[in-house]
Amino acid sequence: LANMLTLVIKCKAAVAWEPRKPLSIEDVEVAPPKVHEVRIKIVATGVCHTDLEYLYGAGKAMKFRPFPLVLGHEAAGIVESVGPEVTKFSPGDKVIPLFLPQCGECERCRSPKTNQCRKNWANTQVGVLADGTSRISCKGQQVYQFLGVSSFSQYTVVPDTSLAKIRSDAPLDKVCLLGCGVSTGYGAAINTGKVEKDSSCAVFGLGAVGLAAIMGCKVAGATRIIGVDINTAKFEKAKEFGASECVNPNQCSRPIQEVLVDMTGGGVDYALECVGSPGVMSAALESTIDAWGTCVIAGWTETEAMSVVVEKILMGRTLKGTYFGGWKSVEGVPKLVDDYMNKKLKLDEFITNILPLDQINVAFADMTSGNSIRTVISLSTEETSG
Ligand code: NAD
Ligand code: ZN
Ligand code: ZN
Repeated sequence: LANMLTLVIKCKAAVAWEPRKPLSIEDVEVAPPKVHEVRIKIVATGVCHTDLEYLYGAGKAMKFRPFPLVLGHEAAGIVESVGPEVTKFSPGDKVIPLFLPQCGECERCRSPKTNQCRKNWANTQVGVLADGTSRISCKGQQVYQFLGVSSFSQYTVVPDTSLAKIRSDAPLDKVCLLGCGVSTGYGAAINTGKVEKDSSCAVFGLGAVGLAAIMGCKVAGATRIIGVDINTAKFEKAKEFGASECVNPNQCSRPIQEVLVDMTGGGVDYALECVGSPGVMSAALESTIDAWGTCVIAGWTETEAMSVVVEKILMGRTLKGTYFGGWKSVEGVPKLVDDYMNKKLKLDEFITNILPLDQINVAFADMTSGNSIRTVISLSTEETSG
């Protein structure tokens, strides 16, 4: 066995050679896991807006990450081999890799106030693992690992603190969505916003993150859930997820925040921004009621600033951000898998398309055009549900 572990795996991956260029399918080499690392076979991966943004917005709204890079961070797979000192995983385990670790030992992991574990943080943000190198290479060149994950590859290696072991009957081609988008939106409502029963909510952006936020508002017992999107084609699905009504800002004669304040007689109790645009963030804050309104930002931008009229905060509103929906990742994700298996949480309804890895650029195009909610990329012919 020890011998087998030392073998490099040759497989296919979608490599981003440079920013703003389509991904290219390459033969890559995936090195064996080092100490406290796990090599996994990726079975399925979702394509998240953040993947798109890091590629096409690199150096603009997103900080520049080193290239070449293998993107992908919303996945599920099977443990292939484990490195030295790994005690919690064995080959064959079903797992979800995590872009947010939970080491369980640091000050932040011990605090109930946050999910922001910082284990390996500086390294994973620049695309390398604990020893400062990546396990993926192509044509003799190191290929960086996006957020320490890189799921647009048939195999990858992740730290053992960035991996959740899930139940063996979980369908990997569905639960992959719990690796990012669905967990983020759902948690934005229930963990970060702490949406209450009988409240009113507005969800800006009706992609996977926004639809999951709607699902969270519904589970929390909100009575009025207003979906907001500039693409009217998203409204039907939003209603399926629990939106009571939907509004298109482009079809309003006044700013969307004014429309929402009027619709609710003073503003919504909770607004959730799931777009990633500073202008929408300000509108979301201003659509909440003074005195107790809460605005949660889930949409991602790293270099831009939003404007806040100070009086809006002085009057009692709260502005919060959420990372991975506030879930402590290693323990939260298996519970979300249980919720899906117990039909408390939808996943299948997010999936609008399933494509093989060599069609990955189509998934990006469909997300940009608004034709998809989530495309799931199937990386393996085995282990699909159905
Ligand atoms: P998506 O592209 O599928 O959905 C975005 C939606 O916003 C689309 O339906 C689009 O039509 C809509 N939209 C665009 N401009 C709008 C506007 N001005 N007003 C209203 N709606 C508008 O994206 P997604 O995968 O659902 O991700 C949404 C955001 O969440 C992205 O910014 C992504 O990077 C971010 N994200 C954050 C985290 C986190 O941990 N906080 C995790 C995952 C994703
Ligand atoms: Zn994501
Ligand atoms: Zn920690």
